[in-house]
Amino acid sequence: MHPFTITRVDDVEAAGSAVTNDAIARAVQGPDDTVFIAGGTTQLDLMRDGVWSPGTLVDISRLPLGEVEATDGLLVVGAAVTMAELARHPAVAGLDVLRDSLLLAASPQLRNMATVGGNVLQRTRCRYFRDPTVPQCNKRVPGSGCAAVEGTARTHAVLGVDAGCIAVHASDLAVALVALDARVRLHGPGGGRTVAVADLHVRADVDPARDNVLAPGELITHLEIPVPHARSGYLKVRDRASYEFALTSAAVVARLEDGVLAHVAIGLGGVGSVPWRATRAEDVLRGRRASLALFEEAAKAELEGAFMVPGTEFKPELARRTLVRQLRDVTEVTA
Ligand SMILES: Cc1cc2nc3c(=O)[nH]c(=O)nc-3n(C[C@H](O)[C@H](O)[C@H](O)COP(=O)(O)OP(=O)(O)OC[C@H]3O[C@@H](n4cnc5c(N)ncnc54)[C@H](O)[C@@H]3O)c2cc1C
Repeated sequence: MHPFTITRVDDVEAAGSAVTNDAIARAVQGPDDTVFIAGGTTQLDLMRDGVWSPGTLVDISRLPLGEVEATDGLLVVGAAVTMAELARHPAVAGLDVLRDSLLLAASPQLRNMATVGGNVLQRTRCRYFRDPTVPQCNKRVPGSGCAAVEGTARTHAVLGVDAGCIAVHASDLAVALVALDARVRLHGPGGGRTVAVADLHVRADVDPARDNVLAPGELITHLEIPVPHARSGYLKVRDRASYEFALTSAAVVARLEDGVLAHVAIGLGGVGSVPWRATRAEDVLRGRRASLALFEEAAKAELEGAFMVPGTEFKPELARRTLVRQLRDVTEVTA
């Protein structure tokens, strides 16, 4: 690992002004970089593997962002709250999609260290991005190509990608957050703003080198999560029953009124270069009488046009089945 210095900040203003370059968005940075570190469970791996070697880390784990507040149908979660703390918070007990997206992720040890802010900003697990001995990676070295397209691509994305980059977005929590219409509160040198989680990440087919829309020095301070008047659930399909990233996942929030889908919101994981909001499926479902045939039609519409390479051909079908199964479980519609 390259030598680095570490600075601890204890107020949000100081944190923002300590990071003045574009390091959050890009991996290819020199030792002049300064980046935030929270739980460190992703950031330190990237540094150890030589993927990203910033000269300075700004430790934000002691910022006063460790509270969960529940008021008037809104959960406000500090970015430094750990995944384990949020999963066991009483306000989350009835919000299955949120709780399960946290508990089905990583391992208990990681969830005790990892923060929710770091989780939604974690970088892709693409093996070629994470191996600096591989020269072709448009995310790590813009313009160099994509080794995954002709490599081992079983775990890669099929939505929001093209031949320039098929890296998959890895966060389970972010998939639940898009289905909950959650927002992030940001604070940076230019002041504060709020961004929908669905608009936070940048699709690989738009710009593979840029992971998110954060400006230099911008910090996530809180998640704002509206509590829906609806049932919800998170289904994660993976190679092992625990401690594994999603091959596919579906976060569903839905409310039936007299058998009609009065509200439906869907996030898909394991298939997109970003946490994927399934708006095409939602458009098929909204306002219509729930049935298995309708669920099939919606899931098919969402996966149409998926970009596949050798190794990912199975993914649209698995994603389709994952979504239909989760729509069925959340609505309890069986015919
Ligand atoms: C073996 C393993 C298995 C895993 N399995 C899963 C899984 O199944 N599902 C899943 O969702 N995740 C999984 N993860 C990822 C894990 O959940 C993330 O590493 C963790 O959530 C990151 O949080 P952190 O606080 O440690 O972030 P850090 O590593 O400290 O930071 C991550 C990134 O976010 C930036 N950052 C952190 N906080 C902020 C903030 N508040 N504002 C702006 N920038 C910030 C940092 O600069 C860094 O770039 C796994 C990780 C490992 C190592």
